[in-house]
Amino acid sequence: SVVETVCIIGSGNWGSAIAKIVGRNVQRLPNFEKRVTMYVYEEVINGKKLTEIINETHENVKYLPGHKLPENVVAVPDVIEAAREADILIFVIPHQFIRTICSTLLGKIKPTAIGLSLIKGFDQAEGGGIELISHIISKHLKIQCAVLMGANLAGEVAEEKFCETTIGCRDSRVVVVDDEDAVEICGALKNIVACGAGFVDGLGLGDNTKAAVIRLGLMEMIKFVDVFYPGSKLATFFESCGVADLITTCYGGRNRKVSEAFVKSKKSIKQLEDEMLNGQKLQGPITAEEVNYMLKTKGMEDRFPLFTAIHRICIGEVKAEEMINCIKNHPEHM
Ligand code: NAD
Ligand code: 13P
Ligand code: CA
Repeated sequence: SVVETVCIIGSGNWGSAIAKIVGRNVQRLPNFEKRVTMYVYEEVINGKKLTEIINETHENVKYLPGHKLPENVVAVPDVIEAAREADILIFVIPHQFIRTICSTLLGKIKPTAIGLSLIKGFDQAEGGGIELISHIISKHLKIQCAVLMGANLAGEVAEEKFCETTIGCRDSRVVVVDDEDAVEICGALKNIVACGAGFVDGLGLGDNTKAAVIRLGLMEMIKFVDVFYPGSKLATFFESCGVADLITTCYGGRNRKVSEAFVKSKKSIKQLEDEMLNGQKLQGPITAEEVNYMLKTKGMEDRFPLFTAIHRICIGEVKAEEMINCIKNHPEHM
C-alpha cells in the first residue's frame, strides 16, 4: 500500500504542539512514513542552533519549552529540503510569512502533495480585498489545501487536555465541514475580536462588557462571511472553529493578553509583542489591518464598527476608551 510522508512547515508554539501529535500518529498508523520533517526558521539560542537543540534534546526550548517531541520528528532548517518528499504539507507559520514560504517552495514540492493550513489570518489582495491563506497556498503551489481551525490554545493541546477542532475540506471522503472558507475566516476574524476583549480587560470594564464584545464580534464575523463569502452556513459558526475558538481566544489567547497590556502600559503593540511573547507572533492586529484595508476601499467601515474601532485602537489612531462608545452605538443595538 501507499506510504504517505508528512512535513510540518513551521515550529512555533502551535507548530510544535502539532508536531507532538503528528509524530505520534504516524508511528501508530501503518501507511505513514515514520520520519516527519519539521521546517524550523533557524535561530541561535545561547550559541547553539535551534534545529540542533531540537534534534538532540527533542524539545523546542524556545517556542514550546517543557514538552518532548517524538524522536521521529526531525527539525530541518531548509524548507525545500523539509518539504521535498512530502505527500502531506501542514502549514503552521504566522500568516505574514506565507507568501515568502510559498515562493521558496514553488516548483520544489511533489505535484501530488496536498496541503493542510493551520494558519489564522489573511493576506491583502490587490485593489482592496483580502485573500485567504489556504487560497494563497493552493494558487501558488497548485495543490489542494484544506484547513484546520478550532478552540486550540497550543499550550493546552501540548498538555493533552481535551479539545475539539474543525477541519474544513471540500473532499467528500473525509467527515468534516465542507464550508471550508467560513471555517478559515472564523479562525482569522476571532483574533481581531480577541484584541477587543483584551482592551476591555485592560480598561477594567468587567465580564458583562466583555461578553458584549464577544457577542458583537460574533455578529460581525457572521456578517463578514455573509457579505464577502455568501453561501456559507450559519451552522459553521457553532463548530469549534467559530464560537468555541472565539471564546477560548478572548480568555486565554496571546492577542487578548497583549491587548490588555497595551491599554495598561501605553507602549505600542509591536513593542509589547517583542517584550511579552519571546518570538511568538500576534495575528490579530495585522488581521485587523488587512480587513480594514478592504473595508475602507469598499466604503464599508461603518458596517463593521467593532473591527474598525479595534484596528484604529491598535494603530493608536483612537483611544482604547472608544471601545465603549463603539459597543453602545453598535448597529446591533439600533
Ligand atoms: P508563533 O506565534 O509561536 O510564531 C513564532 C514562529 O515564527 C517561530 O517558529 C519563528 O521561528 C517563526 N518565524 C519568525 N520569523 C519568521 C520568518 N521570517 N519566516 C518564517 N518563520 C518565522 O507561531 P504559532 O503559535 O505556531 O502560530 C502559527 C499559526 O498558527 C498562526 O497563524 C496562529 O494564529 C495559529 N494558531 C496558533 C495557536 C496557538 O495557540 N499558538 C493555536 C491555533 C492556531
Ligand atoms: P492567540 O494567537 O491569541 O494566542 O490565539 C490562539 C488560538 O488561535 C487558539 O485557538
Ligand atoms: Ca481552501
